Amino acid sequence: MMSQKAIKQFDQPLAAIDHLVNFVQNISACRDLDSVMAHVRTAARELTGADGASFVLKDGDYCFYADEDAVSPLWKGQRFKQEVCVSGWVMKNRQIALIPDIFTDSRVPIDAYSPTFVRSLVMVPIRTNDPIGAIGAYWAKKRTATAEEIQILQALADTTAVAMENLQLYSDLQSKVLDLRRSNSELARFAWMAAHDFKSPLRNISLSMGFLEGEAGAKLTPEELQYVKDAEQGAHRLYTLIEKISEYLNIDEGKEKFEKISIRAAIDSAAKEIIEKAMGDSIAQLSTSNNFPEIYGNFEQMTQVFRNIFSNAVKYNKNEMPDIQVRCSETDREWIIEIRDNGIGIEKPYLDRIFGLFQKLHPHHEFAGTGIGLAICRKIIERHNGRIWAESKFGEGSRFFIALPKFRFS
Ligand code: ADP
Repeated sequence: MMSQKAIKQFDQPLAAIDHLVNFVQNISACRDLDSVMAHVRTAARELTGADGASFVLKDGDYCFYADEDAVSPLWKGQRFKQEVCVSGWVMKNRQIALIPDIFTDSRVPIDAYSPTFVRSLVMVPIRTNDPIGAIGAYWAKKRTATAEEIQILQALADTTAVAMENLQLYSDLQSKVLDLRRSNSELARFAWMAAHDFKSPLRNISLSMGFLEGEAGAKLTPEELQYVKDAEQGAHRLYTLIEKISEYLNIDEGKEKFEKISIRAAIDSAAKEIIEKAMGDSIAQLSTSNNFPEIYGNFEQMTQVFRNIFSNAVKYNKNEMPDIQVRCSETDREWIIEIRDNGIGIEKPYLDRIFGLFQKLHPHHEFAGTGIGLAICRKIIERHNGRIWAESKFGEGSRFFIALPKFRFS
C-alpha cells in the first residue's frame, strides 16, 4: 500500500534552489554516513517529486542498497552484483541512467523490479569521475524525468560526493587526533617516570661520586680521579637533560592555568632569577621599555620563556658584562617583544634550527647546554597562539622576537 507521505512539489525554481541550499547546509554539518544518507534520500525524493529514492554504495564488485525513502519498500539492505543492476551500470559507465519504462530497458533486472511499485527511474552517479555510489529516483508510472529533475539530482549527488569525502577526511583526522592523544599520553607517562624514577638514582650516583672524590680522592691516581669526575659530571648532565625533557613534556599541562597576566611581571621574575645576583649585583646589564602588555596566558610558562632567553643571552656572550635589551612594539593584531643581546650571535643557516629539540650549535665543552631551552620557548609561545623567531648578525649579537596576538577568539 502506498504511504500518505506528503511530497513537496517545487513549481518555482527558486523554491528548489532554496531547498538545495538547505540540503547543502545540512549535509555539510553531517559527521557520519547514516545522517548523510538520511538527508540525501529525503532530499532526492522531495526535490524530484519522486515516489521513492535510494542511496546505493559501491562495495567492491557489488552495489549495496544502503538506504531508501519510498512509498513502499524497495531493496534496502540488499547487495547486487554490479553487472546485474542499474546502479552498477551507472557506476561502471560513469553516466546517468534515464529509464522511462523499466519493461523496455535491458539494463533493468526485471525480477528485482517487478515486485516493487517502480515503473520508471533516473539514477545518477556519486562522484562521476570515480563513482563511489549512486542516487536513484523512482516513479510508480511510466514517465521521462525532466532535464531539470536530472540536473537537480546530479547537483545532489555532486554535493553528496563532497560530503562523503569530507566524512573520510574527518574520520582520518579523528583517528590522527586519537593517535596523537595516545602518543602524548605515553610521552606524559614517560615524563612522569623520568621525573620520578630516573632522577633519584642519578642524584645518588652524583652524590656518591662527590663523596668518593672527597673521601678517597687523595688515594686515587690522577687517572682514577678523572674517572670519578667524569662519572659525576655525566650523571649531572643526564639529570639536567631529564629535567629539561620533562619540562618540555609538561608544557601541555599549563593550558588550564591561562589567565590575564602581565608580561612585565614575567620579565621581572625571570630577570630576578637569571640576571640579578645576591646583594643587588647583576651578571648582566638589563634595560627594558615601559610598554609591556597584559595578555591571556600562563604566567609561569611566560616566565620560563624569558628565563631561557636571558640565560642564553648571558651564556652565549663573551663580554664581561653582557648587555640585554627588552623592547615591546605593536602591530594591528600583535604585540612584538624583542630581546636583544650583544653575544656571539648565530649564523644565518641556524636561525630556524635552534628552535628544534636537541639543537646545539656548540660542543658541550665550549658551552654547556641541552639544546632544549629554545624548543621549550617555541612550544610555550605556540600554545599562546604566538610566534617566535631570531635574527642575528654573526659575531654582533642576537635578537629574539616573540609575537603574541592582541585578540583572543576562544
Ligand atoms: P642550550 O641548552 O644548548 O642553550 P637552547 O635550545 O636554549 O639550548 O639553544 C639552542 C642553541 O642555540 C644553543 O646551543 C646555542 O648554540 C644557540 N643560541 C641560543 N641562544 C643564543 C644566543 N642568545 N646567542 C647565540 N647563540 C644562541
